[in-house]
Amino acid sequence: MDSKATSVSLVGVSKTFQGVSVAVDSLSLEIKEGEFVVLVGPSGCGKSTVLRMIAGLDSPTSGEIFISGVNASNVEPKDRDIAMVFQTHALYPHMTVRENLEFGLKLKGLFTSNEIRERVRETAEILELESVLDRKPKHLSGGQRQRVALGRAMVRKPRIFLFDEPLSNLDAKMRNQMRVELGRLHTRLQSTMVFVTHDQTEAMTMGDRIVCLNEGKIQQIGSPMELYSHPANEFVAGFIGIPPMNIFSVQFIRDDIFIEKAGLSIPAFSSVASTLKKYPRIRMGIRPEYLSICSSSPKAIPITVEVIEPLGPETLIYTRCNDLSLVVRVSAGSHYEVGERLFLCLDELKIQMFDISTGESIH
Ligand code: ATP
Repeated sequence: MDSKATSVSLVGVSKTFQGVSVAVDSLSLEIKEGEFVVLVGPSGCGKSTVLRMIAGLDSPTSGEIFISGVNASNVEPKDRDIAMVFQTHALYPHMTVRENLEFGLKLKGLFTSNEIRERVRETAEILELESVLDRKPKHLSGGQRQRVALGRAMVRKPRIFLFDEPLSNLDAKMRNQMRVELGRLHTRLQSTMVFVTHDQTEAMTMGDRIVCLNEGKIQQIGSPMELYSHPANEFVAGFIGIPPMNIFSVQFIRDDIFIEKAGLSIPAFSSVASTLKKYPRIRMGIRPEYLSICSSSPKAIPITVEVIEPLGPETLIYTRCNDLSLVVRVSAGSHYEVGERLFLCLDELKIQMFDISTGESIH
């Protein structure tokens, strides 16, 4: 399929709805030609509103959107050459898959019947829908229906694909499969794609870049691993990663770190001592894979095992030290028991620190 990938830039875009303080707040973002960008964040953070503004279905209250360098404010949605795929796939139930795919093209009246046939053939081949072209939607699986919805966008060969949580209605297995298929599709089409999800696994696995939003504001833009390994603030640290990073408040008292909820002091790690001297109280973060079960030592935290979750290739152990909960990722085959008293060691080079008042990462 030929590609007409294009760039999108949002410059200081805000959107206020009546009764909502600010749905999108001064958002600036450059999406390059052919890029796959994922907008991720909790429900209500403004993801769909951003997508709708790019599509032209909502107008910004302030700021500007440029598509291929052209200010989009005077371009009607139908003239933006953008296809949007939603969570509910809205196929015409009385039409076959072929008719569903042809419908938009016939409506436009711009294509000969040969062109329409060729586009449908090509799309059906890419999405592996050839064998179901003569079926009606009710005789398809959820994944096949979602592929038809995608196909209806693809036959148009739009400049930009916008996806609004298109996989959320599928079961876990089908979601995984569609994630891989969409990745393949992007590699093949090289189109610009913007994908909205509240599911951080989707964001981590699909995007060239992730834009993490909260309360209408960008929290961080970066590759999946940048957000995972170097979160810009405590929000991103807690949102990206399953299970989330362990984050707790600590104080620096003399040469010790006092872990507040644990009510416990351990000798300060050299990797954090200089920061702690500047910030006497901070939020400390450590990913579950950088905690390990160890033998008793001055820097080890005594814990009790509360829950064990074997996940196949790895096991999660939920532990507690007084009021502090810590989750640890261990390899499969480790044998622990609920109620067992053990010690946890932190990989001190992997500790993250966040300002207690702003939540910003402290480097
Ligand atoms: P979700 O993941 O739940 O779909 P979202 O991140 O996509 O959420 P938006 O749908 O963009 O969030 O909504 C952002 C905020 O704007 C929310 O507070 C929402 O209630 C509000 N909002 C969105 N559309 C409208 C509207 N048409 N009128 C009034 N408020 C709206």
